[in-house]
Amino acid sequence: MELKDVKGIGTKSLALLNKLNIQTVLDLITYYPVRYDILTRSDFDHLDEDMKVIVDGKVESIPLVIRIKTGLNKMNFRLATSDRIFGVSIFNRAFLKQHLGIGTSVIVIGKYDKVKNVITASDIKLGELSTTPKIEPVYHLTSGLTNKNISTYINMAMLQIGKNVVDYIPDYLTEKYNFPSKKMALNIIHNPSSIEKLKEAKIRLKYEELFEFMFKINYLKKENTKANGIKRKILKKDLESIVKILPFKLTNDQKNVLEEIRQDLNSEKRMNRLLQGDVGSGKTIVSIIAMYLNYLSGYQSALMVPTEILANQHFQNITNLLKDLVKVELLTGSTPKKEKTRIYEELQNGEIGIIVGTHALIQSDVCYKNLGLVVTDEQHRFGVNQRENLKNKGLSPDVLYMSATPIPRTYALTIYGDMDVSVIKELPKGRQEVETILKKTSEIKDVLELMYKELKANHQIYVIAPLIEDNDSNNLTSVNELKNKMNDAFGKKYKIDIVHGKMASASKDEIMTRFSQGEIDILISTTVIEVGIDVKNASQIVIFDANRFGLSTLHQLRGRVGRGTIKSSCILISDQDTKRLEILKTTTDGFKLSEEDFKLRGSGDLFGTKQSGDMTFKIANIREDYKILLQANKDSLEFLNKASLNNLKLRDLLINKVKQG
Ligand code: ADP
Ligand code: MG
Repeated sequence: MELKDVKGIGTKSLALLNKLNIQTVLDLITYYPVRYDILTRSDFDHLDEDMKVIVDGKVESIPLVIRIKTGLNKMNFRLATSDRIFGVSIFNRAFLKQHLGIGTSVIVIGKYDKVKNVITASDIKLGELSTTPKIEPVYHLTSGLTNKNISTYINMAMLQIGKNVVDYIPDYLTEKYNFPSKKMALNIIHNPSSIEKLKEAKIRLKYEELFEFMFKINYLKKENTKANGIKRKILKKDLESIVKILPFKLTNDQKNVLEEIRQDLNSEKRMNRLLQGDVGSGKTIVSIIAMYLNYLSGYQSALMVPTEILANQHFQNITNLLKDLVKVELLTGSTPKKEKTRIYEELQNGEIGIIVGTHALIQSDVCYKNLGLVVTDEQHRFGVNQRENLKNKGLSPDVLYMSATPIPRTYALTIYGDMDVSVIKELPKGRQEVETILKKTSEIKDVLELMYKELKANHQIYVIAPLIEDNDSNNLTSVNELKNKMNDAFGKKYKIDIVHGKMASASKDEIMTRFSQGEIDILISTTVIEVGIDVKNASQIVIFDANRFGLSTLHQLRGRVGRGTIKSSCILISDQDTKRLEILKTTTDGFKLSEEDFKLRGSGDLFGTKQSGDMTFKIANIREDYKILLQANKDSLEFLNKASLNNLKLRDLLINKVKQG
């Protein structure tokens, strides 16, 4: 059944539903409420200040409508409850007047002003409150669709599809946990009759989601232990010979990780390794060496990164190091067509040993001769499918994922459970800690002075704003606004430019290149520079509206400076949330910060789910539901390894789902 076949959904509502990302009937019935309003009579003897109140009673006076100005009216009437009388006012609901005759029973929801004895209502409904609390689902809406509309469509869809909802929990587990059926759970989630029932239904649906997810992880892990990789014979001395020509000495952590990778490459088991390392810990060089070792054993390598800027930077680094040893090429969306054709050819005939690029690397017309190693940088930015796609370009290449967004260990064990994890904790020698300074917007003069100091010393500065353009609906600082301000302050003597996500990538690259060559003194940007950029002469980063960002993001941004030997600083400007921001002053440990983020903001920010889509759950939240996650992990592993005869079909169904991505 398609969405348009649901009774009541026409072309117009279909378009609106699509806007909410509801494309299928399944999307619709799993369009879960964002919250619930609990309609229970307020106890006026024990009211907290400013609390929302709900009362029911009868209209006692004819509603009076006052026109305040065009588009704004206010209606007042008296309401008698069983034991009190209130004044009620509501804005812009004059159209309700005709329904509110004297004696009509109504439910009023709003804010109560004790002194005036008036409820300023946000909503008035006809009817009475029942003795048991009424629980109303509240959906995220788009203009043109009401809460009622959505609720009606959902219930109609559920009626129409009847039993045909696939239940991914095996029967014996449903029994074990005494779960309601899926259909029942969905029904309850959209029409809860009591808080207890709602809780049960929620747990049931969360469990199913996490069960499916952990089944996938456990399945992938199992597949990975099979001997299906490339066997190589890379010797310790091969590794040592390349390490010798580096312009610096590797840290112990870097050496250890490289040894792990060497062994992975040699093993017939396919490598599936996540390399976590704090910003600036030197992951890139590790991957370059890994690619070189792979080249020595006769295979091609691909390094995939999320932005062109980063692709360029990596390409430069690799070329500097390996140009006499391997043929290295760069392939991005803006590579000219003729170049592209040549590169495709040379990838296919094996001339190119290492290719660096963006997702252009996984376009369907790219063929490799013998892709043996795939490295993805800032891997959390890619979706699983994109990664799988690249993996499928080779027979069964080894894969190294790199990420500077540290994931708390316990979580990594489950959700990245299919990977081996290496960690680089130690920063290269000679690094100075970046000083973190908190300032209020009223202290902008101090900030400008601090900036001027750096400029005078011929150092460069990043300035970060949350928005590109000004937006009237909030007070956030924008890149364009800062450009004017910075120009006023420093424009006479220093070069200022901007870069942001909406610019064409060619101009972005051009500006980044000019910045890295020292031709721009102040670079104003959104968080596009967050990932990976490495300019050693940049010694200061100034972040406006710092409270808008997660600690991990701020830590990443801070990691853009202090990459060489110049003493560097990070200035956070914010009038709010200073307590949370203070944490950044006390630690430079990315793992600790991500734990804090996790506690404070949940998983969304941490995993960059918006970008990757890997970790987006409809109802579960891996932080809040961590216990369920652990149980689902255990259960799904058991189910994968020994499903009983009558459950085999379900297991195959789940495996097929994983294979389809
Ligand atoms: P990240 O882990 O954040 O990706 P990079 O790989 O970009 O970090 O490394 C940061 C900088 O440190 C680079 O300029 C790199 O050349 C340098 N670097 C890496 N390893 C070392 C080392 N062992 N000693 C000195 N500098 C190093
Ligand atoms: Mg990096």
